[in-house]
Amino acid sequence: MHYTGTLYRNPYEPPSPMLEITQGCTHNACKFCTMYKDVPFRMSPLEWVEEDLREIASWAPDTRRLQLIGADPFCMSFSRLDRICDLVHQYLPQVKIMTMAARVDNVKNKTVEELRILREKGMAEVNLGVESGDDWTLERINKGYHAADILEQTRKLDQAGIAYWMTFLNGVAGREHSREHALHSAEIFSQCHPTVVGTGGLTLFPGTPLLEEARRGEFEPLTEKEMLEELKLFAENLNCDCAFITHHTISGANLTGPDFLGRKEKIVAALQNSIDHGDLERMAAIRRGKRTL
Ligand code: SF4
Repeated sequence: MHYTGTLYRNPYEPPSPMLEITQGCTHNACKFCTMYKDVPFRMSPLEWVEEDLREIASWAPDTRRLQLIGADPFCMSFSRLDRICDLVHQYLPQVKIMTMAARVDNVKNKTVEELRILREKGMAEVNLGVESGDDWTLERINKGYHAADILEQTRKLDQAGIAYWMTFLNGVAGREHSREHALHSAEIFSQCHPTVVGTGGLTLFPGTPLLEEARRGEFEPLTEKEMLEELKLFAENLNCDCAFITHHTISGANLTGPDFLGRKEKIVAALQNSIDHGDLERMAAIRRGKRTL
């Protein structure tokens, strides 16, 4: 298989083969991320894609679900993605569902009609690393798009029937803008129709511009308690009929699962319990030990 640099596998994906179709990230400039720093973006040659499909077909010919990998492979033009769908079905005729990571602006270069065609060919779900719905924060972290783009592009996915996850990056606005980050993100996410809202907590990794800014005193990270308070504010104001995933709790309650709206009160109460009684030192130690997103 042709695998390059960092491989990110969504831990919530059912076990399924991974087919690399791009390397690196088209943007590679978010201030908190070093994941693909040393991997120049490029599309995998179609000959490689075919070779890998042949290999998957040799050991898993009945594959029904396939992960297309790369930081944001959905950046490809409609015609290239369409060609890749055809290759997938040629070598793996049982494939019904293809999933991949995407940036919000990856959707821009495709019409709703083109998205519908991709959906019919099995491109069923994209994982959008949105991070925030707050324009100040999106600019601060150099995300490369604004809240209006999130609304516009997810609407196109809705119309085409392509499901999407949305992530909220807890803590990424720092202390200065935490409240607005939580409230505006909840407001924008609530106007979309994600199947899953996933939350991750900011860790300042070596090599990231945000860590350098923190060292210079230009970015003030949240404490673990403030992270939980921000997450609680986000959850309180989120009104999406979706599943909810968060690793950021020390309450002992399992907050991850379907039916966010049905469980919202329980989730908010568990977060409050963590704020009041959680082992925040232990949480900070776990975060310090993290090596990658
Ligand atoms: S967070 Fe995603 S879009 Fe931003 S640089 Fe990292 S891989 Fe690229």
